[in-house]
Amino acid sequence: HHGWIEVIVGPMYSGKSEELIRRLRRAQIAKQKIQVFKPSIDDRYSVSEVVSHNGEKIKAECINKAEDIYKLLKEDTEVIGIDEVQFLDDQIIDICRDLADKGLRVVVAGLDMDFRGEPFGSTPYIMAIAEFVDKLTAVCVICGHPANRTQRIVDGKPARYTEPTILVGAQERYEARCRLHHEVPKV
Ligand code: ADP
Repeated sequence: HHGWIEVIVGPMYSGKSEELIRRLRRAQIAKQKIQVFKPSIDDRYSVSEVVSHNGEKIKAECINKAEDIYKLLKEDTEVIGIDEVQFLDDQIIDICRDLADKGLRVVVAGLDMDFRGEPFGSTPYIMAIAEFVDKLTAVCVICGHPANRTQRIVDGKPARYTEPTILVGAQERYEARCRLHHEVPKV
């Protein structure tokens, strides 16, 4: 039987986790065996669940490396969900391809752009090799138009272009913004 890759991308708050959970729930209703993975770097809410900002949840297994998926994969799994894919190492690209080749449905969610508006990690590569891509928008907190970017704010100010992509232990927050209101000072 046929496998394929479907990708759900967009900025923070665009409903990626919500949509991933919705698709996986429907697979469960169809009595398909699912497994959900997420990188352990994102322990926003729970180490064992994917949780959306509106409180929807689904059980997930935390992985440190993309190849951990092979260690945890059960023989009867038909649908794989992966959240926050941008935080996994590049091997995830080949793993998604391999699992789809083997007949699994691979549903991947993640940020397509980092806080600078640049392509984020392996997400753009997986988008390129996927059968289906859905690019979701959030609501711009400044003007209410569709937001496709994630604004990073550190100490109340827009984060500069030169800041590292992943900050550890910083006073940072994120907002959904449209192109017009997305601010990334170069200096
Ligand atoms: P993502 O996984 O893309 O970060 P989630 O699925 O976790 O998104 O959260 C989506 C939910 O976030 C929405 O249903 C809504 O309740 C909430 N939300 C909060 N702020 C915003 C915003 N600026 N735009 C859209 N949704 C928002």
